[in-house]
Amino acid sequence: MIGQGTTGAAVVAAAATAGKRQLTILIKNDFESLGVGGKFRRALRDVGYEQPTPIQSQAIPHLLRGMDLLGIAQTGTGKTAAFVLPLLQRLDGESSPPRPGRPRALVLAPTRELALQIHEELATLGRHTSLRHAFIIGGVGQNPQVRALARGLDVLVATPGRLLDLAAQRHVDLSEVSVLVLDEADRLLDMGFVRDVKRIVAQTPETRQSLLFSATMPQEVATLAREILDDPVRIDVSPKQMTVKEIDQRVVMVGNGDKQRMLEHLLQEDEVSRAIVFTRTKHGANKVARKLEGAGIGAEAIHGNKSQNARQRALQNFKNGDARVLVATDIAARGIDIDAVSHVFNYELPHEPESYVHRIGRTGRAGAAGAAWSLVDPSERSRLLAVERLIRFSPAEVTVELPPRDSAEPSGRHSRDFVRSPGNQKSGTRRRARRRRRQPAG
Ligand code: AMP
Repeated sequence: MIGQGTTGAAVVAAAATAGKRQLTILIKNDFESLGVGGKFRRALRDVGYEQPTPIQSQAIPHLLRGMDLLGIAQTGTGKTAAFVLPLLQRLDGESSPPRPGRPRALVLAPTRELALQIHEELATLGRHTSLRHAFIIGGVGQNPQVRALARGLDVLVATPGRLLDLAAQRHVDLSEVSVLVLDEADRLLDMGFVRDVKRIVAQTPETRQSLLFSATMPQEVATLAREILDDPVRIDVSPKQMTVKEIDQRVVMVGNGDKQRMLEHLLQEDEVSRAIVFTRTKHGANKVARKLEGAGIGAEAIHGNKSQNARQRALQNFKNGDARVLVATDIAARGIDIDAVSHVFNYELPHEPESYVHRIGRTGRAGAAGAAWSLVDPSERSRLLAVERLIRFSPAEVTVELPPRDSAEPSGRHSRDFVRSPGNQKSGTRRRARRRRRQPAG
């Protein structure tokens, strides 16, 4: 569940530019007045989405009218339902039967996890329709996917590589796609899918409605948007300061050789109920998870070398609380929607500063407080600067004292921490926080 951008007055003000004139449109903030039909409102009620989020309020009316859209929005804003609802409603209104291998709508996503989440949202919000959807993802056998295509479908969710494979084998034909969605376009390009995306788009009719969502808008994404979209409505719900305000961001300076110990130490803090640890490499993710397990801290690793089943299993163990820690690479973690992650740890800072924003967006969701702590070796200073430039903010640097190497860590959670609060750094006195007391944000 995510927080609402508007309260009280039940209206949102959306600024739109018509020619050179700035218009202020007042939109009544409920799904019905956005044009969402009865069977979809029923599905929304079933899942407890009471009010539209800002991106939903702003996007749905345009999408129902068939406009192209450029949406600048992160995961966590409700962007999936913002495109899924109008897409389903438009297809539902056309009443043409599902056809084998010929979807009428195509959603492209960079990762398998995101594709599956979109697929779930389609199933949830389309539950009172007879529309059919299927997904195509790599890393698992193709036969069940081929069978699903052959049974007939309306909406296809796919990652690019496998989709091109199956299109080349003539299991899927994109010539009847009337709605195309590119989700997390920045990540699609980051992962080197630009040519694949263009080849896929070229197989769809020019008359289609096109939507492109991206958390960030680097030059390459803007160029792709210009090529694919036709006179799009632009909706930007990205936070002004690129990182979510509620997140308590800190930097812990620690040498590479001490990072594992530091991580184990910080994970024992009472306030760390559920954490995602980011590493730069798959090998690093495995190693950190193995050592955490060795230290008695339940952990799962998730990365692109794992089979789809192993990834789903790891996620499930994390979601149901069997593992308190998920160690992930950037790509594997994208699009994962898990509530109540209290802490994100950057075991290493990412190569691309944008990834920092994606990473810390895993916590502090739903307007809840969250914390993102980065373990930074002195050699990572330049990466830290790049992150600070991007987010226009310098996370507080805190000093954390590790217990001496030979003293065994007490088992279970610490009853105190050694994190010197940012406000107290100059005095140099070590401060022991009381149980469950949150540090003031830096
Ligand atoms: P997304 O940005 O699409 O990944 O959505 C983030 C989360 O918000 C998902 O868990 C959705 O189920 C949830 N969500 C989407 N729309 C709403 C809404 N209108 N009210 C409450 N929760 C929502």
